Amino acid sequence: MEWLCRKQLGFGCMRLPLLDPKDPTSFDHDQICQLFDAFLAGGGTYFDTAYTYHGYQGELEVRRALVERHPRHTFQLISKLPLRDFTDRADMERIFQEQMERCGVDFFDGYLLHNMGTNVYRRCCEHGGFDFVRQKKDEGRIGSIGMSFHDKPELLEEILERYGEGIDFLQLQINYSDWEEPSVQSRRCLELARQYEKPVVVMEPCKGGALINLPEDAAELLRREGNGSSLAAWALRFAASQEGVGVVLSGMNALEQIADNLSVFSPFRPLNQEEEALILKAGELVNANTAAACTGCGYCTHGCPKHIPIPQFLSLYNAALRNPATMSNQSVYYNNLSLATAKAGDCIGCGQCEAACPQHLPVIGYLKELSNLFDGRTFFAVRR
Ligand code: SF4
Ligand code: SF4
Repeated sequence: MEWLCRKQLGFGCMRLPLLDPKDPTSFDHDQICQLFDAFLAGGGTYFDTAYTYHGYQGELEVRRALVERHPRHTFQLISKLPLRDFTDRADMERIFQEQMERCGVDFFDGYLLHNMGTNVYRRCCEHGGFDFVRQKKDEGRIGSIGMSFHDKPELLEEILERYGEGIDFLQLQINYSDWEEPSVQSRRCLELARQYEKPVVVMEPCKGGALINLPEDAAELLRREGNGSSLAAWALRFAASQEGVGVVLSGMNALEQIADNLSVFSPFRPLNQEEEALILKAGELVNANTAAACTGCGYCTHGCPKHIPIPQFLSLYNAALRNPATMSNQSVYYNNLSLATAKAGDCIGCGQCEAACPQHLPVIGYLKELSNLFDGRTFFAVRR
């Protein structure tokens, strides 16, 4: 458990580099190997993957780029039980065996109940999800049991009260933009983790990249006071400065990012009071300028019957509303993307995406607005 409590950077494998951005399984294997090697060479050891990442192929790539190329004792490998995908307890066993095979290991240093929220909690209880991970730990196949959580603090408290004894650590979404955000409530969830003495691994410290591409006023504020620190370094320092936080995950796709992110932790310098106040002010500016608080995780797209590129659409929706002067550029991008995939107006309102979204976003409404903005403006399209 010491490695969970130490303030350190973890390599999040949810957004690995791709050869074709439209195909989540088109891994840029050579680049991924370089990134993993650089992370290990720089002192990083924590790798976080999951059954569902990259169209259910992410664990296989982690095996090829990490497990088959580095001695097992040089890294910790963490994966997760998908709470939306199993049918019953026997199916959990099938998935777990498949994960071991895909990853090429016989032991996960950490294993989490993935994406816990109201929509899956009852089912998880009914099928004995908490007992299942406990059994795997007793069998010596798991080092530490975790739970990644995306819901209200009230639910977190209920779970910790009932099942807390069997949970070794929590993975929470903590960043300076979601600190007081009603749909995430980073601060309150972190307080509960402390109250129940659970070490915390942070996910989405940069909110899927949104805190790297800040509105100009927020970026200016941090640049002015940052002594040359990158925006990513600010975000990582905010997350890691919180008491009870050990590992901070980051999805990295360039060698410079790895060097910059690792430098935050060597040595780690917590934010002082003035810096914390400043960054929370920047968070307010970000929130005031963000229409759809999408992290780009892609959980919503897998089951979309119309194959709508929801995260990309929400990203350009935000960009268009943040800076109306770029509306025509966004329109070009929208038309190119929708020609290759689907239009926002193709949405049939089935709700699959909203049920899957850990941020609880009203995706259908956003797509309607996007369709009103852009569908039919094909005169902007640039066919490739
Ligand atoms: S509601 Fe629309 S966008 Fe969401 S999954 Fe259904 S068709 Fe796709
Ligand atoms: S809409 Fe929700 S599920 Fe889809 S990418 Fe954004 S945050 Fe993730």
